[in-house]
Amino acid sequence: MATLGEPKNTIEILNKYHFIFQKRYGQNFLIDTHVLEKIIRAAAITKEDMVLEIGPGIGTMTQYLCENAREVVAVEIDKNLIPILQEDTLKEYHNITIINEDILKLDLKKLVMEKNEGKPVKVVANLPYYITTPIIMGLFEKHIPLENITVMVQKEVADRMQAAPGNKDYGALSLAVQYYAEPYIVANVPPNCFMPRPNVGSAVIRLTLHEKPPVPIRDEQRMFQLIRAAFGQRRKTLVNALMSIEKQGGEPINKEAVSAALQEMGLSQTVRGEVLTLQQFASLSELL
Ligand code: SAM
Repeated sequence: MATLGEPKNTIEILNKYHFIFQKRYGQNFLIDTHVLEKIIRAAAITKEDMVLEIGPGIGTMTQYLCENAREVVAVEIDKNLIPILQEDTLKEYHNITIINEDILKLDLKKLVMEKNEGKPVKVVANLPYYITTPIIMGLFEKHIPLENITVMVQKEVADRMQAAPGNKDYGALSLAVQYYAEPYIVANVPPNCFMPRPNVGSAVIRLTLHEKPPVPIRDEQRMFQLIRAAFGQRRKTLVNALMSIEKQGGEPINKEAVSAALQEMGLSQTVRGEVLTLQQFASLSELL
C-alpha cells in the first residue's frame, strides 16, 4: 500500500470512496511524510509497544504505527471511514484492531487490560481539535496506564500545556497537564500539512507521564478546584478569585483562611494565581 502521507495517494482514496469530510468530527488529514515520521520518532515506538490511536481517519498515521509497534488499537467515531480502513488502507496489517466508537465513551482501562495486560501503552493521535482537552484530561484523570501521549493539537493549546508561571499562556490547563506529565513541544506544523487545511496553526506535543506526581497531595480534586477558581478570574488577586470557588462547585473558603495561608507561604496578600507554581498550589491546597 502506497503511503497516504503523499497527497496524491490520499486524494485517490478519498475519490475512490467518495468520502465527504465531516466538519463536526474535526477531520483534517495529515499529508506530510516528514511530520508523520517526526511523530513516530518523538513517541519512540518500538516492537514492544501497544499503541492507542485516537481518530485514525483514512489510516495515514496508522500505517506507520502498524509498521513500528507490536500492536495498534485505533478508535474512530466516523462509520464511513471503517470500510476504507478495513478493506483498503490497513488490510495488509495483522497487528491492528479497529474500533468504531466515540473515544470519550470507551472503557479504556478495560481495553488496556485486555490488550496489554494492564501495562502502560503509548497514545498517538492527530486529535480532533474540538475535544482535545476532554480527551487528554480523560486519559489522565481516569488513570489509564500510559507511558506517553504524542499528539497533534492546536498550536495555542500546545503553548498553554507547556507554559511556565508568569507566562501569558500559563493557566489551569498548564497546571493540570504538568501535574500528570512532562510536556515537550516536538514541532510546529503549518496548515498546508493537512487536507483540508485547518484555520489555525498546529503543533505536535509529547506528554511523558510522571512515574509519581511531582508534588505530594492528599486531595487532587480540591487542588484543581482552587486552580480553576484562581484562573477563572485572572485579573483578580488570588484572595478575591478564590471567593468564587463555590460557583465552580467547590466548598466555600473564607478570606481570612486564604490570607493566613499566603502569609505562611511567604506570599504577598495581593499575589495573583498566575505566578504560583504547581508546588505552591499544592501547599495552598494542603494549608486550606
Ligand atoms: N489520524 C488521521 C490523520 O492524521 O490524517 C485523522 C486525524 S483527524 C484530525 C481526527 C480524526 O478523529 C477524524 O478521523 C475523526 O473522524 C476522528 N474523531 C473525531 N471525534 C472522535 C471521537 N469522539 N472519537 C474517536 N474518533 C474521533
